[in-house]
Amino acid sequence: MRFEHETLGQRVRFATGEAADGVAREVEALGSKRVMVIAGPNRVGLIGRVTAGLPVAVLHDEVVMHVPVQVAERAREAASANDVDALVSVGGGSATGLAKAVALTTGLPIVAVPTTYAGSEATAVWGLTEGGRKITGVDRRVLPRSVVYDAGLTVSLPVEVSVASGLNAVAHCVDAMWAPHADPINMALAVEGVRTLNVSLPMVVESPEALPGRELSLCGAYLSAVAFASAGSGLHHKICHVLGGRYALPHAPTHAVVLPYVLALNGPRAPDAERRLARAFNSRSALEGLQTLRARLGAPRALRDYGFTESMIPDAAAAILPSVPDSNPVDVTVADLERLLRQAWAGVDPG
Ligand code: NAD
Repeated sequence: MRFEHETLGQRVRFATGEAADGVAREVEALGSKRVMVIAGPNRVGLIGRVTAGLPVAVLHDEVVMHVPVQVAERAREAASANDVDALVSVGGGSATGLAKAVALTTGLPIVAVPTTYAGSEATAVWGLTEGGRKITGVDRRVLPRSVVYDAGLTVSLPVEVSVASGLNAVAHCVDAMWAPHADPINMALAVEGVRTLNVSLPMVVESPEALPGRELSLCGAYLSAVAFASAGSGLHHKICHVLGGRYALPHAPTHAVVLPYVLALNGPRAPDAERRLARAFNSRSALEGLQTLRARLGAPRALRDYGFTESMIPDAAAAILPSVPDSNPVDVTVADLERLLRQAWAGVDPG
């Protein structure tokens, strides 16, 4: 056994109903006097519950999925014009992503308050889109200094969005098992993430306003994101990355649809991952476990429901091919990718 593992340093505060207190403590610890709050325009109720008592210099609400560069530029200008010294993001991966874009060029510290299961708060990965291309990178400056989890902020997340986002977290775990830097540490986190989310997501669907399912899902999302942060992007993430950036497909539903097809391709050739994932899903096989969970959740089914057309398949497959990681357990050809995308487009049984 030989590996090099890096654990990213950040504080996590987890307390339902205590977001305002947690954020205030983190902002105080940073010595910040002028905070820029970044949150989507429809998150007004949430913001009030989080920012009470903060020295807010500016509230920036232009949040767009996949962070177009012009949107990032405007946020950077707002940070500079208001002379801010810290960023507080409240929202899903899009709000966190915009804060990261500002931190990337300014070095400003981020306190992240996540309200979905995207997990961006635990990674040093940033992403921007320009001219239909998603550019990503890894930079320690964008890793939030601290994360404040309050499950009370997530009960308003619609069930459909919760399901897609939760499966995005499951995808972080599954893909971590064969990602370029998979190791015993991140695989352990990933397996525990699957075990947690497999229990918690059906609880959210059954009782969206009940806190136990929401709390457990946030825990699972964090485990998944920490696993992903050190394991890196495997085949699944490379595929979704191209689909999101090139065709503007929605992030979480795209992950939710594509995952079973990647698992069907890789699982049989990755016996250790397959065995451990099957156990985490409490199922005979990893794919059967994932599909059982997806059925219980009423998961997104086909890429064609999200704006991906059949005619895009050859272009997408060619764009994905160069980024297939060497670590992938199966050698992948452009024909394999076309087949996978065709299945995901139609939403047919991956088995
Ligand atoms: P999102 O942040 O766009 O949120 C999805 C929708 O849910 C939005 O309409 C948002 O307003 C709404 N919403 C969020 N919280 C809510 C709440 N509590 N109640 C009601 N509505 C709520 O989507 P996402 O899936 O969380 O994030 C996707 C983005 O994050 C993508 O751009 C993706 O690339 C990025 N991402 C980055 C990383 C990383 O490590 N860098 C990891 C995962 C995702």
